[in-house]
Amino acid sequence: MQLVDQFLRKINYLRVSITDRCDLRCIYCMKEKMNFLPKNEVLSLEEIERLCNNFIELGVEKIRLTGGEPLVRKDILHLIENLNKKKSFTNLKEITLTTNGSLLKKFAKDLKNNGVNRINISLDTIIKEKYKEITRFGNLDNVFEGIEEAIKNKIKVKINTVVFKNFNEDQITNLINWANKKLLDLTFIEVMPMSDTDMPRHMQFVSLDKIFKELNNIYNFDKSDYQTSGPSNYYTSEKLNIKIGFITPLSNNFCSTCNRVRVSSTGKLYMCLGQNEFVDFREILRNDRSDDYIKEKIRFALSVKPKRHDFII
Ligand code: SAM
Ligand code: SF4
Repeated sequence: MQLVDQFLRKINYLRVSITDRCDLRCIYCMKEKMNFLPKNEVLSLEEIERLCNNFIELGVEKIRLTGGEPLVRKDILHLIENLNKKKSFTNLKEITLTTNGSLLKKFAKDLKNNGVNRINISLDTIIKEKYKEITRFGNLDNVFEGIEEAIKNKIKVKINTVVFKNFNEDQITNLINWANKKLLDLTFIEVMPMSDTDMPRHMQFVSLDKIFKELNNIYNFDKSDYQTSGPSNYYTSEKLNIKIGFITPLSNNFCSTCNRVRVSSTGKLYMCLGQNEFVDFREILRNDRSDDYIKEKIRFALSVKPKRHDFII
């Protein structure tokens, strides 16, 4: 079975936010004082699993768990264990995670044992003071220990770094050298305009086109045909042993190859990262509707998936 949208894009990738909570407060993502949702507004693990099952039956092959911070959700391993069992008899090929890595040391072994072979870790700086500044109170050593534990358990780690003017723009080559020593692929991401943060005015958007040109002078990149199911363009260099990725939602729109939709922790299915239209699955799940009805609503959502996002810098 294949799930396609109105523009015939094959949709095989589902991102599921399993919690709105987080153990950090990155200044570009959250306010310092957050009012998190009451528990009953967030989907239960059973509801998440049922929704995932319907997507899998319709053709989804890859599920990425995210948040908030996915590893703060109690019983996340139980959900992963149940999804992992489906790999042997359904379309599902991969379960993966995007995490800040701060709790990874505790979870790495169990994640691996439950079929998680790759994870993305978000890390914007490898300078302790700067890490504390951007996460408000995070401890960089926890992330380093988490990365080591993941590597020890043979989980492939990719680092994602959001680039900001006046914060980490000057540390890009340091990050590349560090990742290269550890043999971790590294992807740079443009900061996206999000509401509900109190991001300092001095930290601004940087176009990755500019960063790419500067790095290309140093590394003389070759375009790689390596593709994950994500929107990153990858490059290799004779000077490096890793791939460097660039995700550029603003300076280079990648919507024509979009293969994904995302579900929020409250069960809203968003068809596009940069648009606000959603279909609310929480009430559908809680009103004891049939799986056929859920699938019909998923198909409807895809029939109205927009052609492109409309972020404005
Ligand atoms: N807590 C996990 C983490 O940090 O990896 C998962 C959730 S977090 C919202 C997922 C990703 O979104 C992280 O890589 C984070 O850096 C990125 N992110 C958050 N706010 C962003 C923004 N305004 N622009 C670009 N990326 C952002
Ligand atoms: Fe938490 Fe991730 Fe947002 Fe940082 S980016 S506050 S770690 S959810």
